[in-house]
Amino acid sequence: MKLVTFSSGSHERRIGIMTDDGVIDIHKANPDAPLTMMALAGAWDQWRAEIERVARRQPDVRTAKLHAPVPRPGKVLAIGLNYADHIEESGMKMPEHQIWFCKMPTSVAGPSEDIQMPKVSTALDYEAELVVVIGKGGRHISKANAKDAIFGYCAGNDVTVRDWQFRTPQWMLGKSFDTHAPFGPWIVTPDEVGDPHALGIRAFVNGEKRQESNTKHLVFNVYDQIEHLSQAMTLEPGDIIFTGTPAGVGAAMKPPAWLKIGDFVRIEIDKIGSIDNMVAAEGK
Ligand code: ZN
Repeated sequence: MKLVTFSSGSHERRIGIMTDDGVIDIHKANPDAPLTMMALAGAWDQWRAEIERVARRQPDVRTAKLHAPVPRPGKVLAIGLNYADHIEESGMKMPEHQIWFCKMPTSVAGPSEDIQMPKVSTALDYEAELVVVIGKGGRHISKANAKDAIFGYCAGNDVTVRDWQFRTPQWMLGKSFDTHAPFGPWIVTPDEVGDPHALGIRAFVNGEKRQESNTKHLVFNVYDQIEHLSQAMTLEPGDIIFTGTPAGVGAAMKPPAWLKIGDFVRIEIDKIGSIDNMVAAEGK
């Protein structure tokens, strides 16, 4: 199933089910259903059967605007240096421990929203990533149980301001500019994705393929990541995890190929779909 946060006409954002013919409005089908994706993620065990029933209805909206599936997650966590080929192109060593940083919740953007070119930098880069959305979550989740903590998967772009990332030991600021965590276009439930470690992943800039790999090359896989993170913190419904990027980022090209205003960036993942974001000047 593909779950969306959408709006149409003058309606506020709602959650729905994406079908080939349009969006089924979950609230319209069942006014008692959770109103936000975060609430649905936390109550999935109770609501799953009903949402599957609702998914058989005719769509309510033919053309909807899609927003980030979780518009304001509690946490946006991201792992660095997690594909061998990207570690090599970065001139780094294979990490012994998982390297985690945060992208602030205000960096979230929708699947077709503009990526802002910062006023303070031109070293703007893309990173194609599989994104995990946490469902019921929890603490001290073992690798074996990690599957049960996952609500679904999205395509994401860990947009990065490289000079801001590397001029201090902490990467957080360079990773947290507004609009620099676009993801979507929907949340695909695990039953439809199957093995999350067998998905082709690609990035295109103006149609030119820049990154192409497969999630089977993750150094620390999705379940390793959930086990490790939850040793430190409680993972909560709607938390977002960016799971690392393969080789081919703009910083590794010679000379570096930074994104420019007007560029179109597409991140595409098998069985999930793609997000398409244009680079636009900040403040427009
Ligand atoms: Zn990344």
